[in-house]
Amino acid sequence: MLKTIACGNVRPEHVGHPVTLAGWVHRRRDHGGLIFIDLRDSTGLVQVVFNPADNASVHHIAEQFRSEWVVQVTGAVRHRPAGTENPNLPTGHFEVVATGAHVLNAAKTPPFDVTSDAALDELLRLKYRYLDLRRPVMANNIRLRHRIVKHIRDFLDDRAFVEVETPILIKSTPEGARDYLVPSRIRPGSFYALPQSPQQLKQLLMVAGMDRYFQIARCFRDEDPRADRQPEFTQLDLEMAFVEPKDIVDLMEELYLSIVKHAAPGKRVLTTPIPRLTYAEAMSRFGSDKPDMRFDLELTDLTDIVKDTQFQVFKNVTAAGGIVKGFAVPGMAGVSRRETDELIAMARTHGLGGLVTIAIDASLPSIDALTASHFRTQARGLALGEVQAMSARTGAKPGDLILIAAGPQAKVEPGLGQVRLDVGHRLGLADANVLAFCFILDFPLVEWDDDARKWDFVHHPFTSARDEDWHLLETDPGKARSKAYDLACNGSELAGGSARIHQRERQEQVFRLLGYDKATMDERFGHLLEAFEYGAPPHGGFAGGIDRLTATLADWGKNIRDTIAFPKTQEFFDPLFGSPAPVSDAQLKELHIRVVDEKPAAR
Ligand code: ASP
Repeated sequence: MLKTIACGNVRPEHVGHPVTLAGWVHRRRDHGGLIFIDLRDSTGLVQVVFNPADNASVHHIAEQFRSEWVVQVTGAVRHRPAGTENPNLPTGHFEVVATGAHVLNAAKTPPFDVTSDAALDELLRLKYRYLDLRRPVMANNIRLRHRIVKHIRDFLDDRAFVEVETPILIKSTPEGARDYLVPSRIRPGSFYALPQSPQQLKQLLMVAGMDRYFQIARCFRDEDPRADRQPEFTQLDLEMAFVEPKDIVDLMEELYLSIVKHAAPGKRVLTTPIPRLTYAEAMSRFGSDKPDMRFDLELTDLTDIVKDTQFQVFKNVTAAGGIVKGFAVPGMAGVSRRETDELIAMARTHGLGGLVTIAIDASLPSIDALTASHFRTQARGLALGEVQAMSARTGAKPGDLILIAAGPQAKVEPGLGQVRLDVGHRLGLADANVLAFCFILDFPLVEWDDDARKWDFVHHPFTSARDEDWHLLETDPGKARSKAYDLACNGSELAGGSARIHQRERQEQVFRLLGYDKATMDERFGHLLEAFEYGAPPHGGFAGGIDRLTATLADWGKNIRDTIAFPKTQEFFDPLFGSPAPVSDAQLKELHIRVVDEKPAAR
């Protein structure tokens, strides 16, 4: 080794001893004579002093050092003089007095300051990712990710799970996205698809008797770019045989709480055991199937209160079978006219027709004393009794603002859920150090796709309906609940899974409902259907995003790209390698491919 100790590991026992260090010049301060450098390697920083009076030639070498040069230094460890210690650094009480120095490699001035955790242009960061990853905050994220994955492997190994690799070159594995295709050179005109997830493979492993499987699996989905999406991402993929949904959910609970404890002990888990809500309950109370439970602002149904109202909008909505829902925002009654208009405009972007606001006078001694002169609303015709009843139902207090939306349930709940999120964040109720997990159970099996005029799966086509709901597939499929579950945390989905169908007839029944004819079924899923005829055990599992989980547990960074060593941009472009990129005509020819309608590569 070119060093005898790592920079971050210098401790009291090294005082008085010679050491050799090697690393990067993190910072350099020239105090007209004395030169101080902070030397950095993967373990941290240590201060090195060069004194011309002690050793002029070594000092002369250090005069040339610049930021990010790679250097080797020999010297003796000593206590820093009293008053110059840095309590923020594990090595902050020591310094190394240099007796030798050696430049291992000079460096150009980096395009950005790698010693800072400031926000930087992301394109530049990704083009120079190897410099971005030198930033301690980024290096910490990559290490956190390692600790998470290592803990997952240890935890599952302890419970007799076996990690099995499944192919990357495969056939379409529908998870609701478009496939990435890989042309076959030796079978002209044929293509592999990259797996959207190892879903069918892990089910086949259950048929194979491998009854506890997991994999840290790469998944590929050719979806449209979106802020926090990557075309390839990593999942913990898991499957077990002879289980019911509760068994998997119990395992997920134990696993995720244990990951937090081991990998991010600084985070506070808000509620354990983790609350379990049905999908219907989550939508009704929070307007979301991944509710942010760090704050309340619960939605309440007000439809019955306003069914005979004189306020025209509510009257029309209830007459048409719609609903009226709202929630009270503590202390927000004082919002200005402009802020109210902004809230309403924001609500419109979330699919609501608008918002009715009721501001309750803060000077009112108690909500029971509410009279017509103690609230402000734009809803002309709302009766005092109606406002009183709505205040009571939403739990509004003097000084609160009640936000109300009306319309079809399918629009009001998710729309108001978004408003709830926005307001919660605006009021600073979403503490980044708190983790509010919740499980969502009993998702619908299918939903109606109005554009395609057909039923579409909600989770994936291999999910089982609840036993008591199978009959609904023939009569009222939209009402059938599935055996699917999700784990949400702080408003994001962390993991999802289901108990699967394990019988051929039932799988064919669902495929039929989804509009697959016999030929399509055989062509796309024949292998799975056939496997189900050879003794497939009841089974189920889940998958959880490693990128999202790391981002949730990280102390720094805003998005999943900050947890991936070499991610693509939001537009799915890789500025480091410059991919995707055109390939040579010779390569295309070999693959029997001709590019038509060439457009300039999008950056
Ligand atoms: N394959 C599913 C997914 O990727 C997870 C599962 O059902 O196990 O979301």
